[in-house]
Amino acid sequence: MQKCRGVDVGWGCSYRELEKFGESLRTEGLPGVGKLAPMDRIDALTLFDEMDAEPVSARRGARYPLVRRVVPDEAFPEEIGGATNFVSGKFVVSISNRTYQGLSVGEARARWTVVHEFGHTRLHPDVLVTRATLPHISQAALRRGDADHKIYRDSEWQCDSLTAALLMPLSALLDLRESGTLDEAVLVRQFGVSYEAAAYRIDNLRRGALT
Ligand SMILES: [Zn+2]
Repeated sequence: MQKCRGVDVGWGCSYRELEKFGESLRTEGLPGVGKLAPMDRIDALTLFDEMDAEPVSARRGARYPLVRRVVPDEAFPEEIGGATNFVSGKFVVSISNRTYQGLSVGEARARWTVVHEFGHTRLHPDVLVTRATLPHISQAALRRGDADHKIYRDSEWQCDSLTAALLMPLSALLDLRESGTLDEAVLVRQFGVSYEAAAYRIDNLRRGALT
């Protein structure tokens, strides 16, 4: 069973809804990256560099600027490459220097981190405005059972599901399956994801969770 790593955002989301949202973000265009066809790989370095080009829309028509920061590696625990906060009327997307270096060489984990943090600004802007921060709850806290809401209401589950949908769009997966060429290696090569992320995505597709 999956454990909740984030906060209860107050509403539930299905994989299918997150697939649709991810697809709409890709087809409407990402900051700096523009509109994407199903088989296009997201240029995560450009996405990060241009993320501050447009404000983030929140509830009741409010729009807030976004600033991006590269912070020293020591700012985050080892397993965390980035964070998104709401500070002084601005969304702040921070990534570690190690993550930024990883982007320039197309490292899968760095790419995932940037798309994930971007995802928070589109998926949970109002939650961020209210709470100021979305904690990435540590493994130790999980063992204590601190996070006990439903997984589909969890900020991290929702955002990781959206990240997978953005990086490996469902329409591309269906085309690859149709042509008999869908496997982990193809997704790793085509979309710059880790083998584990590709395997998890294929597993979700096979068990009918996405369609
Ligand atoms: Zn997160």
